Amino acid sequence: MRNCIVREAHRIVRSAACPLIGAGAAVLILLTQPFIAMAEVSPAPVLFPAAPAAPSALAPGISIRLTPTAPAAGDVMIVRLTTQAGASVSGQFAGRSIHFALDESVEQADGEAHYIGLLGLDGLFPAGVYTLTLQVVGLDGEAAQTLTPVRVRSRRAYLEHVRLSPALAGTLDPLVNQEEALAFAQLYAGFTPQKWWDRPLHWPARGKLVAVYGNRRAYNGVNLGTYHSGIDISAVRGTPVRAAAPGRVVAVREFVIRGLTVVIDHGRGVFTAYCHLSQSDVLEGQVVNAGDVIGQVGSTGRSQGPHVHFELAVGGVPVDPTYWMRVALP
Ligand SMILES: [Zn+2]
Repeated sequence: MRNCIVREAHRIVRSAACPLIGAGAAVLILLTQPFIAMAEVSPAPVLFPAAPAAPSALAPGISIRLTPTAPAAGDVMIVRLTTQAGASVSGQFAGRSIHFALDESVEQADGEAHYIGLLGLDGLFPAGVYTLTLQVVGLDGEAAQTLTPVRVRSRRAYLEHVRLSPALAGTLDPLVNQEEALAFAQLYAGFTPQKWWDRPLHWPARGKLVAVYGNRRAYNGVNLGTYHSGIDISAVRGTPVRAAAPGRVVAVREFVIRGLTVVIDHGRGVFTAYCHLSQSDVLEGQVVNAGDVIGQVGSTGRSQGPHVHFELAVGGVPVDPTYWMRVALP
């Protein structure tokens, strides 16, 4: 692998060629401003930081816990709420809805219920202070609303310059990118309350991690304003690709950019996708366990060498999966 040094914005940064995406042509530039975007995900919705909200007094009997207290782009925001049993709970953050489910990991005391909601922050999520709005409607019909200010931190991102072979230049068509982004937004929008997993995500393939989540990419000098929506694991063609967690296969489909892809629904708005496969070994609707072989490593779609692009989506958007491969998502 060839390393070189480039000077950008009064900063000297190292750059490295990536074997998968145009050997000798990849240059990483540390951006002084957080983010833009990626390779496989569409431009994120424009979200404007709300004015900092004054923490409102919680209605009696309601408590809220947010983890992490100041999430970054690419993180999963975990909202835990304790209130009276039988209440209905809903929430919104930056224009998106948060789905809540009963948190079975906590013992439900008499008359009390613990709820949990997961919301992914995409890799382009602008830093700022936003308002978390939660509504609780008790069995008696009485409604309470709480407003909580949440600071979202920026995420360090690099710009990767990738030289694409002429055969793949068609994958840079903005329309193609928009269509694929829409297809995945629809796949990831599902929500079923049942949680299928109880362990950290299983590594999808034996191989080498060659690209992390969140970097922006310019292909042949074209920056589509997208970010790398997953991680890339380089492996020999034909290496088995395994389900990261139990779930139900919701898509086995050929995409222009992601190539042959398997998408699994793990419940609670959590999905994983396995892309650029040479073949799939599952059917839509099939239930799989963690570690089950679902396909083989290939190089279909916008890929220049055998690898699996692995995505984790939570609450509708791709997040950084690496932490959740060591720690079980709650
Ligand atoms: Zn990738």
